[in-house]
Amino acid sequence: MHYDLIVIGGGAAGITAAISAARRKHRVLLLEKLSHIGTKLKATGGGRCNLTNTLDNETFMARFGREGRFMRDVLRTFDHRALTDFLAQIGVATHAPDGYRVFPVTHNALSVVRALEAEMQRLGVAVHCAERVESLEASGDAVHAVHTTAARYEAAHVIIATGGLGYPKLGAEGEGYVLADSLGHRVNEPFPAMMPLHTKEHWVRHCRADTIAKAEVRIDLKRAKKTVAVGDLIFTRSGIRGPVVLDFSREITPLLQRYGSVPLRINVVQGKSETQLHEQMKQQLQTNPHQSTLELLQPLLPQSLSRELCQLAEIDPALSWSRQKGCQRDALVRLMVKMPLTVVGHDGFAMAMITRGGITLKEIEPKTMQSRRIRNLYFCGEVVDLDGPCGGYNLQWSFASGWVAGMLGVRE
Ligand SMILES: Cc1cc2nc3c(=O)[nH]c(=O)nc-3n(C[C@H](O)[C@H](O)[C@H](O)COP(=O)(O)OP(=O)(O)OC[C@H]3O[C@@H](n4cnc5c(N)ncnc54)[C@H](O)[C@@H]3O)c2cc1C
Repeated sequence: MHYDLIVIGGGAAGITAAISAARRKHRVLLLEKLSHIGTKLKATGGGRCNLTNTLDNETFMARFGREGRFMRDVLRTFDHRALTDFLAQIGVATHAPDGYRVFPVTHNALSVVRALEAEMQRLGVAVHCAERVESLEASGDAVHAVHTTAARYEAAHVIIATGGLGYPKLGAEGEGYVLADSLGHRVNEPFPAMMPLHTKEHWVRHCRADTIAKAEVRIDLKRAKKTVAVGDLIFTRSGIRGPVVLDFSREITPLLQRYGSVPLRINVVQGKSETQLHEQMKQQLQTNPHQSTLELLQPLLPQSLSRELCQLAEIDPALSWSRQKGCQRDALVRLMVKMPLTVVGHDGFAMAMITRGGITLKEIEPKTMQSRRIRNLYFCGEVVDLDGPCGGYNLQWSFASGWVAGMLGVRE
């Protein structure tokens, strides 16, 4: 029952940590509370598994915000090329169909989990599923045993790779925070991130499933004016979702907690300005002066959204553009460029693909992922206070930090 290393959590980070350590000839036990390892990994990218992306390390880190610099050393050791090389070694061929996002060529996350599982088996990693870690036993500045629902195991090193709090049905329920806290580690408040948002405006339900390509979403608060994201936006029964919303929601949740609601301004016409729109309308009218306003808007917006915006601008969509009052035309054009929506809520962690917050970076050594408080303890993956946008960022971080944590402080 004595191991060189016990890894707590069998997600992308924990599995990679176990493989990294086992390849260095350590005797490793991986403990996973669910009946299978890699449960969240299997669900990533809609089952297609967006493993990483092709950005250089500097650009990659910048997308995590100010804290992104923490990743510098980890990425130096294990960047996207190292990840795809490692995956190739274990039989997972990858490609980037759009030149940016990297997937397994199978486009099947299960093939990745199977290959990782086979590699652990080859290396002799002991994997105990359906065994939840309940507490850690420590004395002084070292942890020396792990208590699970089934047994007590001793270990020379322990890695916490228990994920965050998002999509709890896929395993991660914040237990890593409790374990770290029990050893004196500080945990920054976790917020749900990357999830659909609810809006105050109920009209959105009439546009349900309409997709707005390259919508430009801006937070309409003085202190967050610079927060802007561009991408596809989809209306839902109760608000908005889609890639741009997923990325944006990680900025929204702390503001929502502070202010109760968060005003947004959305450009739904691919970043066009009011002047450009007026000009475009004018040109279209020259070819067909009798077009109704609704017909005129057709090249710009889905019909249901055009109707809603006309209503907001108090415009009759059946009337031609030239018969609308000037102030109403201006109002409609302004709405297309700065459509106001107010975020009032979300489904919380249940639908959050990522957690913002977690074990504070200040107490982790960035070169090794080693605890600064407990000398034989390491962290990796989503449990630490780092979160990136959509596009393979979070898996790359999980794999890379797992790999480095599994090196157990030895720099090569
Ligand atoms: C639906 C969905 C789709 C996503 N798609 C992508 C994508 O395409 N690309 C991307 O980059 N990111 C994606 N993400 C984010 C990415 O999946 C996560 O950031 C990443 O998987 C985190 O890996 P992890 O190993 O840190 O945590 P997890 O994968 O959450 O693994 C933690 C593991 O620890 C186990 N555990 C927890 N507590 C205990 C305990 N006490 N004892 C034993 N075991 C325990 C859990 O059961 C779990 O298996 C997606 C997330 C979701 C929810």
